Amino acid sequence: MKETIYIRNARLIDPMGGEDRSVSVLVRDGRIASIETEIPGGHSADETADRVIDATGWLLFPGFADPHVHFRDPGFTEKEDLMTGAAAAAHGGFTTVIMMGNTRPHPDTPGRIADVLARARKTGIRIHTCGNVTYEMAGRELTDFAALKEAGAVLLSDDGLPVLDEDLMEKACTEAAAVGLPISLHEEDPQFIGQAGIHDGAVAAQMGLRGASRESEISMVRRDIGLAERTGAVLTVQHISAKESVELIRQARARGVRIHAEATPHHFTLTEEAVLKHGSNARMNPPLREKEDRLAIIQGIADGTIDMIATDHAPHTREEKAVEFSKAPSGIIGLETALSLVHRELVQSGIMTWREAASRLTKAYEVYGLPGGRVTEGAEADLVLFAPGETWIPNDETLRSKARNTPFLGEKLPGVVKLTVCRGSIVHEDRKAEKEA
Ligand SMILES: [Zn+2]
Repeated sequence: MKETIYIRNARLIDPMGGEDRSVSVLVRDGRIASIETEIPGGHSADETADRVIDATGWLLFPGFADPHVHFRDPGFTEKEDLMTGAAAAAHGGFTTVIMMGNTRPHPDTPGRIADVLARARKTGIRIHTCGNVTYEMAGRELTDFAALKEAGAVLLSDDGLPVLDEDLMEKACTEAAAVGLPISLHEEDPQFIGQAGIHDGAVAAQMGLRGASRESEISMVRRDIGLAERTGAVLTVQHISAKESVELIRQARARGVRIHAEATPHHFTLTEEAVLKHGSNARMNPPLREKEDRLAIIQGIADGTIDMIATDHAPHTREEKAVEFSKAPSGIIGLETALSLVHRELVQSGIMTWREAASRLTKAYEVYGLPGGRVTEGAEADLVLFAPGETWIPNDETLRSKARNTPFLGEKLPGVVKLTVCRGSIVHEDRKAEKEA
């Protein structure tokens, strides 16, 4: 039987419902049994609840959705697995994630998708998966989109690699549109990349490297906006890194093209300079770029051009990252630090309200048609309580991921996830969450 949880005096921010008010919420039998507007000075604690949580000063959100994580399972479970990935998600306030498909084996057949989803159901959070666009992500032969959808894939992606063959990509778009699956795209053309994972700018030059130029992304984004326009497919441009890409998508959306875009917390927080300080823990594809790119991404998130914040949570072992920059794998973990970075860079900085920020952290529910994302009476209880006034430090004691590859390791970050509830069960709790009722 599930616990009855009574949350008192929380500030409810439900971006899809437009709520921003002080409430008390009762969770019973996995669902939100009631939401009452809190009366200042009033006392309405439910005496029958197993847990009574005083959330004064805390924010209450629907569980967030991250449309872009790498849980490395199956195949690379020394980096992460479904259980540790789910724990990291819950710690970060995410109750829903979509896994990318660069696993071994790949999710390119219905059986493989069914297998990973069956195991994912035991984690406590809602784990979805992509299906691959091409077999083995080799960019040669399209998978059976209808069969992958039937098996449970919620989007198509070869993330990690672009689909370079334009004719094949056009065929993929046409079929995806017919089947009704969005395609999520890693936009980096290798012909414009020397050393991957570092921007072809001042820092790369200083290190004697030719990095990944902005043209590698811009050229692919331009091509795929055209494909979305011609085929009617719903496309997502993943982890935008260049200011020109933001502008291309802004113009496309203004013309009515059905294109979505993600930005990661690291791309709106850091620039290429981070490589000098953090080495391989600041190496990712696409790379961190310049201040103007970072500011354009923030502007794009603010005006809705970039409608989803995605972490691109990409765990690697310490050994893999503890080598010279050019030999280390690309990618950093991001699920656990995302909300603190949204808080610091987007909300505390005065750029957007919590309601706007939360909308970018829940938009994936709408784009990919996933259950969840609302705090309403009768809905399954997927909730996050966040204390904006507290701080924490990512380290061995606090992080739930198997991996430690983050440039934010050891840095004091604002805002603590106090409680994460998925389907009415507590899946993460900060030790200090329970106060005297
Ligand atoms: Zn990617």
